[in-house]
Amino acid sequence: MNARTLSTRGYSEMPWIWDDRRELFVNTETGKTAPLEDMPELVDALITDAWDDLDEALAEKPEPRKVRNIVLLLLSDLYLILAALGIGGLIALDANLRAQIEEMLARQVGYLDLAISQYLAERISPAELRRRARMYLNSARSAYWTTRDEFEKRRGKVEQRWIAVGDRNTCSPCLDAERLGWVPIGTLGVPGSGIVTITPTTMCEGLTNCRCQIAYR
Ligand SMILES: [Zn+2]
Repeated sequence: MNARTLSTRGYSEMPWIWDDRRELFVNTETGKTAPLEDMPELVDALITDAWDDLDEALAEKPEPRKVRNIVLLLLSDLYLILAALGIGGLIALDANLRAQIEEMLARQVGYLDLAISQYLAERISPAELRRRARMYLNSARSAYWTTRDEFEKRRGKVEQRWIAVGDRNTCSPCLDAERLGWVPIGTLGVPGSGIVTITPTTMCEGLTNCRCQIAYR
């Protein structure tokens, strides 16, 4: 498998664009429309796709350098397409937002490089490397919520509310944040970053695995 076949969803292939007049998303490839509320589900689906690509790529037990390249490619793709989705389409992703997203991405690449060096030194197993790689991919959810926050502010929204999502045990910081109800934008962190509330700072116990959402009004 080479990098090109892996990257089935290059960032230029984010087809969803926000239609401000109709207040819904339009898929420019299929013409389908979808409400804003459906987008967090699409975020989950895109992350799950990236997991599948990761599993497929790592099944061949490639060299550490190849593992790095594969994860890096998936990660940068995912950060870009999710950031584009959050702001209403790739065209709306301006230089400032891109810089912000690239900074977040760079942090994950730092973690990735650390994991690769530990893997090279045989201090972590292939299974542990895969577990960590999945966490880095999950962190891309924060790219979506970072630009979504900006999208909502530009639409004149002023309040936000944490929506705790958990299959089994949703952790208490996330449940506490949900109990806060509507708060001014800027009070809450972004799902996928690990930060739940900014002041005082609380962290999701699942760190980047948090699948919580935010509503705006
Ligand atoms: Zn959570």
